[in-house]
Amino acid sequence: MSRSEFDIISKYLAGSAAAFPTGNIALGIGDDAAQFRLTGLQQGSLINVSMDVLVADVHFPADAAPELIANRALAVNLSDLAAMGAQPLGFTLGLTLPSSDEQWLEQFSAGLAPLALRHQCPLIGGDLARGPLNIAIQVHGQTTTEGLRRSAAQAGDIILVSGTLGDGVAALASFGLPTHLDKVAGFITDPLDDADRLYLKQAFYSPEPRIELGLACLGLANACIDLSDGLFADLGHICKASSVGATIELDSLPASAVVQKMLNSDECSLAALLGGDDYELCLTVPPQQVAAVEAASADLGIAMTRIGVIEQQTGLRCVNGAGEVIAIPATAYEHFASD
Ligand code: ADP
Ligand code: MG
Repeated sequence: MSRSEFDIISKYLAGSAAAFPTGNIALGIGDDAAQFRLTGLQQGSLINVSMDVLVADVHFPADAAPELIANRALAVNLSDLAAMGAQPLGFTLGLTLPSSDEQWLEQFSAGLAPLALRHQCPLIGGDLARGPLNIAIQVHGQTTTEGLRRSAAQAGDIILVSGTLGDGVAALASFGLPTHLDKVAGFITDPLDDADRLYLKQAFYSPEPRIELGLACLGLANACIDLSDGLFADLGHICKASSVGATIELDSLPASAVVQKMLNSDECSLAALLGGDDYELCLTVPPQQVAAVEAASADLGIAMTRIGVIEQQTGLRCVNGAGEVIAIPATAYEHFASD
């Protein structure tokens, strides 16, 4: 590298606007390890740790704007904390870079700051090496209870999702990239105007981690997962971990106006069910708590839609508005599906 590793760390990582102090951080970047200050934790509080690795040309186009890559990398990690009902504390960053491109580093460093500041989750350490462009982020967060675990769904729970589904996969189509749904849904990009394309670009690069919503649902929801692989796959994870099944009402799945411009209504349901990268929360909620969850999300200005019910019978069943079971023609995207 033309700049030394230590220069890069001090200028773009320790020097990033994302590396700010908070009361929860006793020691940030610079020593052999960072330190969280644990005073004030009540009995039963837990530290939640989660990591996502983003690989160039798998999870994002390698030539995408560095601010956008940084923002997305932190957003998808914070989304995992949201799905636990955890309050973010700080994050570490493992970065491999093909070269020390200063302009790239400066923009990447700046791109970490807005979400870090918004959720009071500063950069507290990491590692740096030369290699193909990869970004590994580990987030640390605190729950006051055991949090919203995948294993806690109960038969009879109502299934709710935040926001709209299908925007992530529609964004890929709007970028002109192939999607794993191309065989079952013909994305039409002609009707999109500049505002629609911007909406999809933002949905893809700047998904909003639902941190406040996860915190508000603690004590109300039983199980929760964030939607990264698609509702069908992710709700399947909840069902498996909880030894239950579910029925999903396809016609109830919320799609944005932009996705509805690109697909007919059946295809919208498939995109919502099988598309990934939406980073909304899927919650299973006891019937008596549903109104409280809906009120909490309304207070946060986040749409919340009832989409089905958890049942004793294992497996996922999809039904249409008439209650007829619909067979699903494609499975959700899996990274190693072709192995
Ligand atoms: P060590 O040799 O002890 O592993 P390093 O030289 O790798 O330490 O890192 C020095 C300091 O810089 C550490 O505090 C480390 O956490 C921090 N650091 C290294 N890489 C990054 C990075 N990509 N982002 C944030 N901090 C980093
Ligand atoms: Mg190191």
